[in-house]
Amino acid sequence: MKIYNSATHQKEEFKPIEEGKVRMYVCGPTVYDNIHIGNARTFISFDVIRRWLIASGYEVTFAQNLTDVDDKIINRANEQGRTAAEVAEEFSTKFIDVMHRANVMDPDIRPRATKEIGPMIGMIKSLIEQGHAYAADNGDVYFAVRSDPAYGEVSGRKVDELMVGARIAAGEEKRDPLDFALWKAAKPGEPSWPSPWGDGRPGWHTECAAMVHRYLGCPIDIHGGGSDLAFPHHENECAQATCCWHEGFANTWMHTGMLLVDGEKMSKSLGNFFTLEEVLEKHSAAALRLLMLQTHYRSPLDFSWERLDGAESSLARIAGTVENLRWAARHAAGNPDVAAADALGEDLAAFGRTYTSCMDDDFNTAGAIAAVFEAVTRANHYLEDTQARDAVDEGAALAAAGVLANWLGTLGIELPEPKEELPVGLLGVAAGLVGYTGDDVDEAAERILTARADARAAKNWELADAIRDQLRDMGLVIEDTAAGSRLKHS
Ligand SMILES: [Zn+2]
Repeated sequence: MKIYNSATHQKEEFKPIEEGKVRMYVCGPTVYDNIHIGNARTFISFDVIRRWLIASGYEVTFAQNLTDVDDKIINRANEQGRTAAEVAEEFSTKFIDVMHRANVMDPDIRPRATKEIGPMIGMIKSLIEQGHAYAADNGDVYFAVRSDPAYGEVSGRKVDELMVGARIAAGEEKRDPLDFALWKAAKPGEPSWPSPWGDGRPGWHTECAAMVHRYLGCPIDIHGGGSDLAFPHHENECAQATCCWHEGFANTWMHTGMLLVDGEKMSKSLGNFFTLEEVLEKHSAAALRLLMLQTHYRSPLDFSWERLDGAESSLARIAGTVENLRWAARHAAGNPDVAAADALGEDLAAFGRTYTSCMDDDFNTAGAIAAVFEAVTRANHYLEDTQARDAVDEGAALAAAGVLANWLGTLGIELPEPKEELPVGLLGVAAGLVGYTGDDVDEAAERILTARADARAAKNWELADAIRDQLRDMGLVIEDTAAGSRLKHS
């Protein structure tokens, strides 16, 4: 398996630190608002990456934090006259709920910044003792960027270039404009915790370094996040961890590309800003994921409602094929064509190899999904051919349905449940047409289809058409195959 390491700018053969195991960390949200679909892209991408690692046989330990104390949360709380803890609690719960709705697996470990103050203070103390950090007179503690010769390696930046435009903001007591806060002295009305440097709260970059070390151990195999986090957030996380523990931090850095809406950057002022919640109110999580995975995770993703409608149709087409394969298998009553079944099996195996090699090549989901679409077309050809000759092979049709559903399921795309249940109203139709008085809807459907077949055999087109029209009014269509006729939701 090859993975693109954004710190080295190349695809590398993936070798976990501990054989068969992967330790993985992805920065979570700052919980001050509902997440938007750009954030969602990152979390869905890493969910797919995690699922593929698991499907490949790795035992994956996945940690993701909740940043539940931060300037944005404090500002939101002040605007709304609430406490920062109330705001953080509300949006933590909403984030977890909407991740479930998006079919994103829960992390194995979900640390919260406010519950990790002790380990963070311990890390900061050690950094001061080792000469990598200093406490200012105002109670802030800063990391001394120039004390870390490796600074810039995660994001590919040079310290001297970073100096251009670097400023010390009002109220900061940095020795060097590049330095960043590990601990911020409490301002009136802000949440704070006691520390050796007075009451305060941790800086944002501090929590992930402390959590990775505490819950996964340094170094980890994969550290991920949106590409906007590479600098300064990931650079700063890495500087703290490597200067504190001298064990390395992350072997592979992975960053997801940005999400555009109709080709433009998403922003509230442009009116093209969508939360994940509002997208999932209108569309299925499976369609959104299918849309997202048709673009490689590192490339910019163009979201539009039209593309999402298109993904919904593609999904329905795949689900229809899977349903047709299962139905054909159940009704296979003729002489199965063994050669056609074998040919289908061989072709699907070849598509399966393409799917796997794409996923093993830096999680090329677009290629994997293209292979699924080709397999769907192939399965449809098989059905057209063999149903016309009443030569469906039950095992081959079921196996094909299974692999299609499986390939999508591995990516976290759940096919919509087939609308197999026929409407109860068929009982009334059957009573009127054929005098059926039982309460078995499937039996009623069989009787109606038989009545129609009899009418056609007797060239009673008027009756056959009348039956068809009554069914159509109930949202049903008749599909005639050599294996018999079936009723389907239209
Ligand atoms: Zn982080």
